[in-house]
Amino acid sequence: MEIIHVSAECYPVAKAGGLGDVVGALPKYQNDLGHIAKVVMPMYRTKFLYQNDWELVHEGGQQLGEHWFKYAVIKEKTNQLGFDVYLIDINGLLDREKIYGYDDDTERFVAFQIAACDWFSKWQHKPDIIHCHDHHTGLIPFMMQYCHAFNSLAAIPTVFTIHNAQYQGWIDWSKYYLIPPYDNWKWGMLDWKNTINPLACAIKCAGRVTTVSPSYMEELKYAANGIENLLASEYSKSIGILNGIDAQIWDPAKDNLIIKNYDDHLVKEGKRKNKKELTGMFGLDVDKPLIVFIGRLVGEKAADILPDAIRQSVYQHHGGANFLILGSGDNEVENKLEALKHQLNGYVNTYIGYHEGLSHLMYAGADFLLMPSRVEPCGLNQMYALRYGTVPMVRSTGGLKDTVKDFGDWQGYGIRFNHADVNDISYSVGRAIDLYNNKKDLHNWMRIYMMGIDHSWDASAQEYINLYQSLQ
Ligand code: ADP
Repeated sequence: MEIIHVSAECYPVAKAGGLGDVVGALPKYQNDLGHIAKVVMPMYRTKFLYQNDWELVHEGGQQLGEHWFKYAVIKEKTNQLGFDVYLIDINGLLDREKIYGYDDDTERFVAFQIAACDWFSKWQHKPDIIHCHDHHTGLIPFMMQYCHAFNSLAAIPTVFTIHNAQYQGWIDWSKYYLIPPYDNWKWGMLDWKNTINPLACAIKCAGRVTTVSPSYMEELKYAANGIENLLASEYSKSIGILNGIDAQIWDPAKDNLIIKNYDDHLVKEGKRKNKKELTGMFGLDVDKPLIVFIGRLVGEKAADILPDAIRQSVYQHHGGANFLILGSGDNEVENKLEALKHQLNGYVNTYIGYHEGLSHLMYAGADFLLMPSRVEPCGLNQMYALRYGTVPMVRSTGGLKDTVKDFGDWQGYGIRFNHADVNDISYSVGRAIDLYNNKKDLHNWMRIYMMGIDHSWDASAQEYINLYQSLQ
């Protein structure tokens, strides 16, 4: 089959979170299964753009409201990623340093989707599936079916994956003119609660809808930021498929972003060397259990309670564990964490910002990875932690529930808790300290066991193929 993934992110071209990881890995695994999977995404000014060679494959133009814009499509020449990646360049709109966070994000991503559809409609042959990811590509299934200019795409089946239903890309109806002309009586497909809602629109228009874990699919029926009823009514065409990880990139035996490579035989010494480097860099104690947090500092990840939870954990357990935080997001949380690091110098440290290399060293060098998430559609961090022999400490929600088993249960290898609150976190920190200090054999067994769990994309990539085939 020929599959076209359309996404705002794809690692290593551009990544802000898990979406980038997924779109950077799934096509590779689908190609390995004998299919042809490609990625189409916006052209931002990222390092990857400048460090690689590109060829021009198409130039075109389209209307965005009253404005005519030109676009160009370029393709990476050497198939470096294991699949073809195409970037759509729209001068002045997409070619910025950051992926998101601009006042005109609505215009940027609507223009991207129009350009993508315009380009697809010029193809002589048609792909078997167009697979769209998250709300930045959520209008594509609608445009393909109902916008006059793209009528030739109406018969191509579409799949839409919800990576995160919190963000829906709402567009006020006063900007209706951005959507290319369509059959007017279809306006209801765009609308949810008096707003143009790209996520809701994709759920209505796509042939199949997926979420990134089975548990998240269930949870969305009850908590989906206002679109619960829609998800419940479209349930029959929806399915949860657990994300995998790119086991070639996230491999402690080969990862060149860490200090010492190791496999499950050498996990103890390997992790110790990485931990020594990490604790040295951040002024922490190599002999104490090291608990890390990696992620966006936002409410979904329960980052707002981290400062209080860490303070209480340090006091309650008499400084028995050290903490290291890597992330950025909410200013208030960033400031509180910075203040905490000064207050609890030697016990807590932070790196506020985005740092891919440091994240790898942290997965390798930490003993525990804390994820108190309020919402976690799948979560990749805990799967990276497992692969690197780092015990995940997770709240029982979404994909965390599907991938982590508490060590109190038969063959469990993680720490689970129920509430995103200070007490549950501090209690779990106590269990982590006890495991590290007093149950060394069990801890070692857990490390080896979790490193052997296969969370690669092999199985899930095939599940997506089965889903596409059901639409042919
Ligand atoms: P989400 O997509 O909701 O942010 P996921 O767990 O699905 O969460 O994916 C997060 C990905 O982003 C992981 O690869 C994680 O290592 C990475 N990441 C998040 N924040 C940072 C950061 N500040 N520096 C480096 N990597 C980060």
